[in-house]
Amino acid sequence: MTELPKTLTFRMPAEASPLGFRHRPAKPLLEAERLRKTFAHAEGAAVERVSLAVGEGELLALLGPSGCGKTTTLRMIGGFEDPDEGRILFEGRDITHLPPEAREIGFVFQDYALFPHLSVIDNVKFGLRKLPRAERQTRAEEMLRLVGLAELGKRRPHQLSGGQQQRVALARALAVSPKLILLDEPFSNLDAKMRVETRQEVRKLLKSTGSAGILVTHDQEEALALADRIAVMDKGRVVQIGTPDEIYRNPTSEFVANFIGRSNILRGKAEGMNVQTAFGNLPMTRAANGAVDLAVRPEQIMLDPDPSGSATIVGREFRGHDQIYWVQNGDDCMIVISGPGAQHPIGTRVRLRICDCVVPLN
Ligand code: ADP
Ligand code: MG
Repeated sequence: MTELPKTLTFRMPAEASPLGFRHRPAKPLLEAERLRKTFAHAEGAAVERVSLAVGEGELLALLGPSGCGKTTTLRMIGGFEDPDEGRILFEGRDITHLPPEAREIGFVFQDYALFPHLSVIDNVKFGLRKLPRAERQTRAEEMLRLVGLAELGKRRPHQLSGGQQQRVALARALAVSPKLILLDEPFSNLDAKMRVETRQEVRKLLKSTGSAGILVTHDQEEALALADRIAVMDKGRVVQIGTPDEIYRNPTSEFVANFIGRSNILRGKAEGMNVQTAFGNLPMTRAANGAVDLAVRPEQIMLDPDPSGSATIVGREFRGHDQIYWVQNGDDCMIVISGPGAQHPIGTRVRLRICDCVVPLN
């Protein structure tokens, strides 16, 4: 018995054309144009021709592996690093060489950078130095209420948990109501469970204050769960920008197809919207012609036990809500994810089918 569907269902993705990708918000708040940054004694540029835009109230994730230039990009936008080339516009105004304090942009550092000798409320008040003294207290109390720390204003940072310290840093940065807030790996000091809980709180908080945000992360799950749009970076460059759905369903390169989730890579011969593969003729998410590499998600492959099948299960991982199989199919080892229902032992002969649109890679 198998719980897998018997019929092929071809589902077209919402965005069938790469031209439909939302690269730019309709009304950009911040625009970075062709930013470049090299460091002395470093080989090549840390950031190369990075262009991106953030809309009012929008949350953009800057996602990529360690060392790809995320922090450097964020620091240029915040004014902590001077670009070699390119420019930065805020509400249409050139702010490329303005110091951080003249930018009306909030920054939450990776280590929170709280003052250890100041109480929680004084840390928040520090961000409000420009306000009259009486207003400072009221505003700081309001911010601590907003982040759920109203009772802890008198404590010192070291008397708080990691998650609470992060909320103080957020309260301090948000106290001046910046139109844009920059967050560098804001969840990296939290344990796995706290990270999942905190990220939705942070999203809610930003949406409630109306501040736009750029959030740097190397965690694809975090970017998919949190962001309105994702800019994927690799080796100093932005390689794809789109909504989480677009990036996941329609990656344009093998790098993106494997950095955001996992993909199997197949060879095929494409003609228009269809491609001939070892799995038969399949529809594609966008048109291509000639020899192509194709990305196929593990959950797009169906696995049927069949003693005369040409593929064999060589590895298995039970994960509760689903299970991963590694299947040897000729020279290729493919990853297949199926529901928690039927479980097939290692060594089972199977037949593989692909039941969805596949993605041609550039
Ligand atoms: P990420 O935040 O994506 O991990 P970074 O922006 O911190 O990446 O770094 C990008 C590259 O620039 C790395 O190769 C890093 O070593 C280099 N780099 C960053 N800051 C400096 C610096 N101040 N001096 C020299 N090299 C730097
Ligand atoms: Mg970094």
